[in-house]
This record gives sequence, structure tokens and C-alpha cells, in this order.
Amino acid sequence: MPEKRDEGVIRLLDDETVNTIAAGEVIERPASVVKELVENAVDAGADMIKVDITVGTQHITSVQVSDTGCGMYASDAQMSFVRHATSKIRGPDDLSRIHTMGFRGEALASIAAVSRVTLVTRAEGTDVGTEIVIEGGEFLSVSDVSAPRGTTIRVDNIFFNTPARRKFLKSRQTELLHIYRAVEAEAFAHPESAFRLRVNGKEKLRTQRTTAMAQTITQVFGTDLSSQIIPISAGTPVMRVDGAIVRPADCRPNAGEIHLCVNGRPVTSPQIVRAIRAGYGTLIPKGRFPMAYLSIRIDTSLVDVNVHPAKREIRLSREKEIISGITEAIRDTLQTTDLIQSGTPVTSQDNRASVQASVYTHLPKQSQEVAEPIPGVTKSSYGNAQPERFHIRYATTDKQLRLTGNMDEDAGVNLLPPMRIIGQVADGYILAASRDNDELFIIDQHAAHERILYDQLCERRNAGIQRQELLVPLVVELNAAEKLALSANIDILLELGFIVDEFGPDAFAVRAVPMVLGKRLGTEMIHDIVSDLVVESRKSADERCDRITATIACRGAIKGGSPLTQEQMERLVLQLSHTSEPYTCPHGRPVILSYSQKELDRMFHRT
Ligand code: ADP
Ligand code: MG
Repeated sequence: MPEKRDEGVIRLLDDETVNTIAAGEVIERPASVVKELVENAVDAGADMIKVDITVGTQHITSVQVSDTGCGMYASDAQMSFVRHATSKIRGPDDLSRIHTMGFRGEALASIAAVSRVTLVTRAEGTDVGTEIVIEGGEFLSVSDVSAPRGTTIRVDNIFFNTPARRKFLKSRQTELLHIYRAVEAEAFAHPESAFRLRVNGKEKLRTQRTTAMAQTITQVFGTDLSSQIIPISAGTPVMRVDGAIVRPADCRPNAGEIHLCVNGRPVTSPQIVRAIRAGYGTLIPKGRFPMAYLSIRIDTSLVDVNVHPAKREIRLSREKEIISGITEAIRDTLQTTDLIQSGTPVTSQDNRASVQASVYTHLPKQSQEVAEPIPGVTKSSYGNAQPERFHIRYATTDKQLRLTGNMDEDAGVNLLPPMRIIGQVADGYILAASRDNDELFIIDQHAAHERILYDQLCERRNAGIQRQELLVPLVVELNAAEKLALSANIDILLELGFIVDEFGPDAFAVRAVPMVLGKRLGTEMIHDIVSDLVVESRKSADERCDRITATIACRGAIKGGSPLTQEQMERLVLQLSHTSEPYTCPHGRPVILSYSQKELDRMFHRT
């Protein structure tokens, strides 16, 4: 039975409550304050936009944005805090041709509803500036002051009156990361303004005004990109794409380094990300993403920017046409670029070693079969007669299996049925039969070893993971957001066997790595880990730790394309049987496929 209710229970909310609710939609976190204030500065035509953040031991304590834009007269300055008060549009018709960042007149009202705001502004054409202090939506003071032309807005006590929202905030590091991301996105979207971001007085990002796209990208996202990026510039009658993409070899495990702006507005768009990936086609493996820095211009009448409270998402008319235009632009650019000549510098001996190793795998098959079996010679001495490079591969695999040797011991659990190894196919799969010979198993050797390593790393995480010092530290250059993500997670990395420390203003040096990684570490692995950390900064420390563990396991594991001896296959399967979940790898992909006799019979139409 529904509960009986009284009459007259539906009431209008008072203004304060309405404003606080509305504010919650626009202002999610300190980074939203930064985004809104910066966008107002952009709309005011500022040449220079300075963002200053102060951080206490726990939280972000203040956000200040100052600009050299048009400023406001005193009456406008007061009006600017009223909800739905804007100078940017006048009526519904204007909504279909928006050329400014703002248009709803909600940001300042929302910010002022949940914090204390001090605004100082002076318009061109007047000598007197205005200072307004407003807290929780209440004007505390309005006075004349002297001020340079432009506007400075300082926001303190963010969410002081919305404890629920404040509790929801993540660590100051995470919130800072969002601020970096927001400023980067705006600086990329607005190369016509110079940007400077400081945190507690320390400069974190600085850009000059420029019309050169490549310069914008390297200024914002890091100078080491300049050797990597492939410029892109293409268009159809309804849109233009400008910016840069990277060679397939420089892809990432997530879409975190795909930076998009549409008509000067930083946006996230799964459709556009898909379109970009589609442009790479099979050049990059499934589940990986390129880096891309794209500024897309689309006829404003085809873009609805009024679909998301923070204006982060857009809706496109003639979406198919636009999306396929983007895919084609990427494809054409890649087709006309020399992809072999990779721009990635070889940075360490480890890298060189891995290049050589991959050469062996790509040798034509026959050359591995130089030695003909000699009649009467035993199988093992036949093995010895194989070319030396073959030994190198076996030896590497042996080392990898030794590192997980503890899994050989009978750990009590054995989640696999007993099986007899039949052999290896395609240097990547182990074929086996069940004891009763009525079931066929196909085991992915890489996925299997990945699972083994992952389990071992998890088990040893608390006891301390064995590490090895690198003779030559591996130096990785990172952008501001990545640097922050890395420093915020140094403890986790230490726990997992890495020793990483700052190395100059833009780089980190990796001095030790988990033992299981052996000699196969390259900068791309560190980039993979860091970009996961950037994207997953919202996740808990445990989840981040798991993700990194899975990446280490993936990198440290025996690869597909490695020939295995009978003994190695047996050890691998034995180790796998002692894992917690032998049937799936840490990424959730299958490790073992099995076909019962019945299934085989059915497949051959015998039943
Ligand atoms: P919107 O940007 O959607 O118009 P806001 O609440 O962000 O709404 O700002 C309200 C108005 O205040 C703007 O329309 C603009 O006229 C004025 N304003 C805000 N910030 C600035 C600034 N930095 N310089 C000049 N004018 C500003
Ligand atoms: Mg605005």
C-alpha cells in the first residue's frame, strides 16, 4: 500500500536553496571554478590570463584568476552575480549561434553561492575600479578602488556552506590535477591568450600567445612532444580539424591523452574519440589509444553546446558527416606520413635490447630451422644444435619463469585439471589434453604468465617486491598533469618496486624497477603507467595499485612469439595452476579455451 500523504506538501523552494542546488550542477569541484573564471576572461578578450592557486595541507584554499580583458562598470559588476544575468546572449535565437564560452549567466552566481568571492574590476573608459565582496550569495561590500584594466576574481572557502560537497572532494593532489587539466585544456583551446598557472607561487604552466598550432601543443602539453607529433590540418565543407596526432607506436592504454576542443571549447566526446581511433584502424592494437590534440571547428549552427551543465559535452547535428570527416582526416594524414621513421628516441640500453629482441622474432621462420635433425642424435642434443639466437630466447623465457618460480611449489590450491602438454602453436599457444584425453585445451602463454606474475606481485606487495637498480636511470619527460599524478603516487610505485624521483623541472628519473621487468623496460611503460594514473585519479589507491600491478604483469610476462621448450610449457602450466584465477588474465581476457570431445564432435558434424 502506498503511504497516505497530506495535502499541500508540494512547496516552492526558497531562492537560497534553489541557488545552492543550481550551483552544485555548475560547480562540481575547485577545477570547475577555475574553468568558469578562465572562460569569462577569454570572453572578455584578455591577452593574458593568470591563474593562482593556494593549497593548504589538506585542501585547495583559494583560486584566483586575473585577466587583462574588457573589465566591467560598477553596475555591471554587481549584476554579474545575479543568476541568469549575462551580456552574451539576448534571446533564444542566439542559442544557435554562440561564439562565446559563457551564455547562461550562471557561473558567477553559482560560485558566489558556495564560497566567498572578491571581485576587482575596471572597464576601459573609466578611472574608477570596483571591488565587490560576496559570500554565500550575500553582498558584503561594494566599493570604489583603483585597479588596472581588467578583472581579478579571488575565490576562498569553496563549498564552505555545502558540507556534503566538501566531503566529496578528493585529495588536494587529485583536485589540483583537475585544475591542471582544466587550465591545459583552456590554454590549448585559446592560443590567442597567454596563460600562466601558479600553485603557491610556483609556476606550473606558462604559454605565450601564438598562432602556430605545433607551438601551442608543445607549450601546453610538454616540449618533448615536438619530436613525436604529426601535424594534421584538413576539412570538409562543414568542419575543419587542426592540430596533431602521433605515430601508432606512441599509443596509450587509455584515451587520456586525446585532447579535444570544438569551436574553442574544451569538450569530451566519446564519438570523436571513436572517430579518431577509427582513423588509425588496425595500426594500433585493440584497447589502445593514440595521443591527439585536435581543435575542431564546426559550423556553430550544427553544434548544440547547451546539453551539459558544465558545457563539457556537445551534441552534433549531421553527426555522421562530421565524424566520418574526422576519421578520414586522421586516416589521410597517417597515410601520407612516414610511420616507420618513429620519432621516439631510444633512451636507454634497455630499449636497444628490446629492439634487438624483436628483430629475432621477426626473422623468417626457415632461418630458425638451420639444424636438420641428425639420425640417432637424442632430442636434447638436437636442441643444443640450434642457432645461438634461439638460445637467447629460451634463456630469457627461463629467466622469466624462474622469477615466478615460487609458483612452482605446491601452494595447496590447484584450480586446473591435470593435463598433458601436446605442444606449442604459433609460438604463442600451448596445446594440452586432459588426463582422460577427452578435452582439448588451448592456453595463451602470455595471458597465462601475466596471471602468474600478477598473483605473485599481489602476494608480495606487502612483504616488499624485489627490485633491481638500473645502471642508467631511465629519464621520462612528463607534462604538468602527468608529473602531478606521478608525484601523488610515488608511494604506490615504491611499494610496487619502482624508485622514481624528480629529475629537473619536467622529468622524472626511474632508478629501480620491479625485478620481474628484467631488461624489458622502456619509457613507454612508464608513460602507460602514468597515463593510467592521470585518468584514474578519481579511483581509490587500491584500484590504482591494482591497475599498475596489471601493467607490470603485462610487461613482465612471457610474450606471444616466444618459442617454448616442453619443460618451459610444463612449468608455465604448473605455475598457472597455483594462481587464484587461472582462467582469466588480470585484464579479464581468457587464458584457456577448452573444447570437450563432444564439442569437437559437434564441430566436425559427427553428432
Ligand atoms: P556568462 O559567462 O554565462 O555570461 P557568468 O556568470 O560567468 O555568465 O558571468 C556573468 C557576466 O559577467 C558575463 O556575461 C560578463 O558580462 C561578466 N563577466 C564575468 N567575468 C568577467 C570578466 N572576467 N571580465 C569581464 N566581464 C566579466
Ligand atoms: Mg561565464
